[in-house]
Amino acid sequence: MRIIDLKSQQAVDALFYNAADTSERYSAQDTLAVQAAKGHRYDLTTGSVLLSNELRPMLRIVADTCGFHDTCAGACSCESNTVRFGHETRFMHACRENFLVEAAKYGMGKRDLVSNVNFFMNVPIRPDGELTVDDGVSEPGGYVELEALMDVLVLISNCPQVNNPCNGFTPTPIQIIISEP
Ligand SMILES: [Zn+2]
Repeated sequence: MRIIDLKSQQAVDALFYNAADTSERYSAQDTLAVQAAKGHRYDLTTGSVLLSNELRPMLRIVADTCGFHDTCAGACSCESNTVRFGHETRFMHACRENFLVEAAKYGMGKRDLVSNVNFFMNVPIRPDGELTVDDGVSEPGGYVELEALMDVLVLISNCPQVNNPCNGFTPTPIQIIISEP
């Protein structure tokens, strides 16, 4: 699966489930713990293996023109928008709500939403542990490519956030290409 950031600076929120049993799903915690144990970093790039909550490999990043993808900062929601940006943002579109609409098609609900991947999102983490959502650095036409290591169900929210710089304050289209190996 190739995800293409057509116009640049577009955060792409994604969740992954075992297509045959959605109780097995992407685990950001296990993915980063195993990656850290190997001396790697807190973000995802080429070579990163996305693990499930059963510690099985779900996908591997095999190409990446951006260089890093966040999996710490989570998805935006109407509630977090309210807290972070003011009550008037309560009714703006948000990734959590997009995920819920798609998850419902597969019989899933709020309890099935877990920590997600934010492709192309720039989230520097300082030595003291504080993280910020910074300006995106992905170029127009930049892409990340994942190889599925099991049959996966992928939920994607092309982040509609306009209150922080994760999309350059202007959400833009992406393209997804699925191909057989
Ligand atoms: Zn979002």
